[in-house]
Amino acid sequence: MEPLYEGKAKRLFTTDDPNVLRMEYKDEATAFNAEKKAEFENKGRLNTAITLAMYRMLETKGVETHLLDQIDEINLLVKNVDILMVEVIVRNIAAGSFSKRMGVEEGTVFNSPIVEFSYKSDELGDPLINDDYAREMGLATPDECAELKKKALIVNDVMIDFFKRCGLKLVDFKIEFGRTKDADAKIVLADEISPDTCRLWDIETGKKMDKDRFRQDLGGVMGAYEEVLKRVESATS
Ligand code: UDP
Repeated sequence: MEPLYEGKAKRLFTTDDPNVLRMEYKDEATAFNAEKKAEFENKGRLNTAITLAMYRMLETKGVETHLLDQIDEINLLVKNVDILMVEVIVRNIAAGSFSKRMGVEEGTVFNSPIVEFSYKSDELGDPLINDDYAREMGLATPDECAELKKKALIVNDVMIDFFKRCGLKLVDFKIEFGRTKDADAKIVLADEISPDTCRLWDIETGKKMDKDRFRQDLGGVMGAYEEVLKRVESATS
């Protein structure tokens, strides 16, 4: 079957049910807006399992997601939602593009989380936007922007606690949302939550346990993802 959509890390396929899509996690990794590419055996399997565990954990805390079911090691069934073209980034500790843009040393802890929006456009390199940009570009209404921010901060609170139990510090993360196609369209969490989309540092050693190992050529990328999955599974069991 032809994919309905192919992204950098996942493919989306239709199913017999128009309300349901199959999401396949690929082994490919990209960084710096796809300037850097590699393939990691098992990445699809690890990110599928981590996303599944995170979504199930978040659902128990009242956060709605597009997850329906697991098919196999690299495929999830998800609701067919309209993805909002706004990426929501939450930062607890300075790193990555924040440190670069603002000249703030990596590891600087924020008093309160920073929520950022960016326009989901590979062509433009996901530029940073605000509520006014989102409104004028027709990406999200002001009410929706407020809802995205509120939901992202709830996800942050839940994930900080959860990852603490995994011995991991949640530095920052990116999430996406979709509008359900029902009459009472709701905004639910979509896409993935994995070491590709979260920065996670070991609480004891400070070791980077996420995609920065690939971005910064630190080695042991899949070993770190495997360790994250092990800890996530033991914290959810
Ligand atoms: N992130 C992501 N996809 C993107 C951009 C960022 O998953 O297209 C995640 C990234 O892994 C990190 C957080 O969002 O956990 C903040 O990323 P940042 O803006 O610092 O960008 P980067 O360092 O990836 O350029």
